[in-house]
Amino acid sequence: MDFSEPIGLLLKAVHFAADKHRSQRRKDAAQSPYIDHPIEVAQLLWEVGGVREASVIVAALLHDTIEDTETAREELRDLFGAEVLSLVLELTDDKSLDKAERKRLQIVNAPHRSAAAKLIALADKCCNLRDLLQSPPRDWSVGRRRDYLLWSEQVVAGLRGASPTLEAYYDRDVSEGRVSLGIEYGIPYDPYRRVP
Ligand code: NDP
Ligand code: ZN
Repeated sequence: MDFSEPIGLLLKAVHFAADKHRSQRRKDAAQSPYIDHPIEVAQLLWEVGGVREASVIVAALLHDTIEDTETAREELRDLFGAEVLSLVLELTDDKSLDKAERKRLQIVNAPHRSAAAKLIALADKCCNLRDLLQSPPRDWSVGRRRDYLLWSEQVVAGLRGASPTLEAYYDRDVSEGRVSLGIEYGIPYDPYRRVP
């Protein structure tokens, strides 16, 4: 990969991801364009994580393409190189497995990821937790939001050591989330409870 032209590479990745996610929306009530999410993950890596390696930022922009769109491994390899492809693959769940198993494997595999993949996975969890707290998926009960937060904590436990600043960012949100979702106080699960 030619790292002498990082802006060109970045634009190529944004354009590629935008095209692949073109028809997808996030799960929030406003149904935001899906591409907002990988851009946010890449931006957080740069801003909070202090990441300056082009391959990591580019892989962050592409991290959901193989998992969630019709993207072949060869496309990523030919356009962005083997290093980016390998990072994206580390972040791609095996969709042939059922959801519970995929969730379990994320927890089990997190400590064994490469340092770069841990950074992206951490930024991804930061963004998803923030989305969950600020603009949750439509129709998710408090119980489901709690489950998601508690699961993401277990994944992040295996990613620790990757970036103190991203971990602090995540920890701030998780503390807020534990309070707003009533986890901290052991409030019994009430599907009709309104979360601010
Ligand atoms: P999903 O994996 O279906 O949904 C979460 C994922 O959706 C995120 O990781 C993110 O992935 C993406 N996403 C898109 N929009 C948003 C948004 N606005 N906010 C947050 N995430 C968004 O979650 P699960 O179905 O696995 O549920 C999480 C937990 O809840 C599990 O532990 C499961 O066991 C439990 N559960 C509880 C239920 C209940 O009623 N109590 C019912 C079903 C599940 P990406 O980064 O890929 O975009
Ligand atoms: Zn993601």
